[in-house]
Amino acid sequence: MPIPVARHSLMREMNEMAVMTVVRQHGPVSRRRIAEVTGLTKSTVTVAVQRLFSKDVLMELGSVTAGPGRPERLLGLNPDAGYLLGASIDVAGFQLLLFDLEARVLDQKRGVFDAKASPNEVLEALAQAARLLRQQISARKYWGFGVSIPGIIAPSGTVIHAPNLKWKEVEAGEYLRRQLPGPLYVVNDAAAGAIAEYYFGNALTSEFLLYLSLGMGIGGGVMMGGNLLVGIHGAGTEVGHMVIDDNGPYCRCGRQGCFEAVASLRALTERAMRTRDVRDWVGLDHIIEAFNQDEPWARQALEETLHYLQQGITNLANIFDPDTIVLGGPLSRFGEYLRAQIERRVNQDMMIAGHRSIAVRLTRFNEFTSAFGAGAMALNTAVTTRA
Ligand SMILES: [Zn+2]
Repeated sequence: MPIPVARHSLMREMNEMAVMTVVRQHGPVSRRRIAEVTGLTKSTVTVAVQRLFSKDVLMELGSVTAGPGRPERLLGLNPDAGYLLGASIDVAGFQLLLFDLEARVLDQKRGVFDAKASPNEVLEALAQAARLLRQQISARKYWGFGVSIPGIIAPSGTVIHAPNLKWKEVEAGEYLRRQLPGPLYVVNDAAAGAIAEYYFGNALTSEFLLYLSLGMGIGGGVMMGGNLLVGIHGAGTEVGHMVIDDNGPYCRCGRQGCFEAVASLRALTERAMRTRDVRDWVGLDHIIEAFNQDEPWARQALEETLHYLQQGITNLANIFDPDTIVLGGPLSRFGEYLRAQIERRVNQDMMIAGHRSIAVRLTRFNEFTSAFGAGAMALNTAVTTRA
């Protein structure tokens, strides 16, 4: 098999991305510092910076004097260079955001539909809302549209299976591409969460990030050196279905004792109903409020759930060895208590405990994490391919 040779344009794109990454992580930053961090030569950095300037992606943000010699000009991102559309679809509806390169929201729409709505109805409503938001910006500044869905997505954008939505083999990417010309991405919701935290959120400098979406199910997204880990079939990091207790409760997937069967919002709610001895569904708001007031039933329900969360996340830390874990999804609303308990246990129990530590953080964006991340899928392509 021939050894692939890097195209000149590919090298150029990679250099531009490397410069963008350093500016995003460390900006405002000088050309000298960019060369230090990337390992590129000063002249390569100068060429890449020049190209990014010509695309309006970078701007100068003053200068500093560091030692003898001329002052060094500092570079930052131009947040107004382009706009992204990002949406997340879940069982209750969709969130749609139009935002700039610093994740500032220009406008947003929410779609609500009932459980009987067909995939076509949902996608049609989303496409219509997206067209309306897109009209607010010039064609030149529209960089693309990403949609997150809680399920397994093929690289073409076809939803292979989204159990909570009850979608199977839905050609979402193809449909949306016809409705909205331009770059379009369909991505798993937890993968989108990882992208959002890496590009805009609480894991900007992470080299190996694990994002966990803790909701009615549990999803995982992994970013390694700025690349998303998706697996051969787009079905990677389905962490919710690793088995924690094979005598445990049945999972939606048919097996027993999966991580999400014992540690998800659904598991917490069922425990809350049991410890309170009620038959009616207990909402998350109610459980959080009772937990904050130290009511024993809520405390017991959370502690039992937390036990399994700690166990599952420690397993994942042993498998992936990340530097950062970000917790998102509805359960992250237990906030600092949940974060600290998980960080403590993971660092105490993982195999290389004591040698290094893993930072556990909460999501920066609450219910909007996946929508920001889906939109950010368009970012790399837009920056490197625009003339
Ligand atoms: Zn399962």
